[in-house]
Amino acid sequence: MSLEEVAPAHQTFDTILVLDFGSQYSHLIIRRLREFNVYAEMLPCTQKISELPFKPVGVILSGGPYSVFEDGAPHVDPAIFDLNVPILGICYGMQELAWINGKGVGRGEKREYGPAVINVVDDSCPLFKGVDNSQVWMSHNDKLTALPTGYKTVANTGNSPYAGIANIEKPIFGLQFHPEVTHSLQGKILLKNFAVEICHAKQNWTMKNFIDTEITRIRTLVGPTAEVIGAVSGGVDSTVGAKLMKEAIGDRFHAIFVDNGLMRKNEAVTVKKTLDDGLGINLTVVDAADEFLSKLKGITDPEKKRKIIGNTFIHVFERVGAEIKPKDGSEIEYLLQGTLYPDVIESISFKGPSQTIKTHHNVGGLLEDMKLKLIEPLRELFKDEVRNLGKILGIPDELVWRHPFPGPGIGIRVLGEVTPAQVKIAREADYIFIEEIRAHGLYNNISQAFAALLPVKSVGVVGDQRTYEQVIALRAIETTDFMTADWYVFEAAFLKKVSSRIVNEVDGVARVTYDITSKPPATVEWE
Ligand code: GLN
Repeated sequence: MSLEEVAPAHQTFDTILVLDFGSQYSHLIIRRLREFNVYAEMLPCTQKISELPFKPVGVILSGGPYSVFEDGAPHVDPAIFDLNVPILGICYGMQELAWINGKGVGRGEKREYGPAVINVVDDSCPLFKGVDNSQVWMSHNDKLTALPTGYKTVANTGNSPYAGIANIEKPIFGLQFHPEVTHSLQGKILLKNFAVEICHAKQNWTMKNFIDTEITRIRTLVGPTAEVIGAVSGGVDSTVGAKLMKEAIGDRFHAIFVDNGLMRKNEAVTVKKTLDDGLGINLTVVDAADEFLSKLKGITDPEKKRKIIGNTFIHVFERVGAEIKPKDGSEIEYLLQGTLYPDVIESISFKGPSQTIKTHHNVGGLLEDMKLKLIEPLRELFKDEVRNLGKILGIPDELVWRHPFPGPGIGIRVLGEVTPAQVKIAREADYIFIEEIRAHGLYNNISQAFAALLPVKSVGVVGDQRTYEQVIALRAIETTDFMTADWYVFEAAFLKKVSSRIVNEVDGVARVTYDITSKPPATVEWE
């Protein structure tokens, strides 16, 4: 059994089902609903209604890249209408409703992408309650050619006579625009009207309520004696997961921190202090720096480095895990995994008829060898919800708002061969950079910042003497989702100070540069 099968959130909380037709915005529908404390989950549009794992209080059909009239376009199981719950179709979702109703959909004369202003023509429509004639966001080629039978027009735009339609008796609604994107200025009111006023969903999806139900759920799954292990990294997800396990089963949860020698300065000490001393989590710290660094000797290829670090981690974790023998002879049965909802969405979202949907498995290799069952207490949550949960669980703010740090750590921030001396240079430079960012109050404005050590030498002059040493590249980015990112604009005085401190305080560095590349075309990390 897994945690998903024990009193899942969609059985505990009123749930809006979002059926995904492959729109790039589908996940935003869920996020918006959760912002006003209504729980929502996504399933692919191909979901058979008779096999639904829960009874939703309402259904939203998302947008999608196909044209409903095309051969092979995805279609919803008509049994959704037998659920007898309110339905809202967004863009493709609305076209799908019209197509099912009578095929009144065609290619528009001109595609419409970007802002438009809606004109609400029916004040009595509950979906548009409190919504003015305001900007909405359009992204479509196709449009309704006629009003489907049983529906009336409730809003239009200059280009879309059927921007909003409603069949009040059912009730079923359709929107040509995307209320889930923030460019639709009153989109959130529309979604709230649908979920709260029309579907009567309870607004009780709060992290406080989640904690109580989640702890009960973990206890039910694990039972009174079994034990759980999990890796902690010092990052927010693994710390929140570990603290939740601690609250649920106390010392029957064993956290393992593998110090791979590629961590930030003082990391092992800080993790011990926060998790063990501060949060009371049963923690084993393993110093495996020599093992990692000796395996990395002579390796310069970034992919090879990542593989070696990943495999060595599994190896060390398994070894240490096997050494943990619970006192009373009970068995370790579960492995804590910090899977978040975006990973789940990624694995279930609709990617088109020709593509197989990949299943999500973070540590397949690890599990097979260890014969442990997975426990994923955060798999229903988005990152900001995890942070919120962390705060309620008493995790210090500094950790809750910590920048992400890659698994291979400094191993991929030392370009070229990773040696203890090179790691030390990169680590010291990084420490100074982050220290200054914090001292200038900029840490929370930046999504991620670090120093990378480049595998080149450069000429310098110190005390009238020629030097010939290495180069540090600083990188700081701003992003909301890490899919795209832009470099952070520092004041010149700040960069001057950091640069001067690094060349003065870190032996082996002759020059400091600042990376001014966005993602794409560059990635966040250098390797
Ligand atoms: N592909 C459909 C169109 O072009 C729907 C687009 C959408 O859902 N954003 O109209």
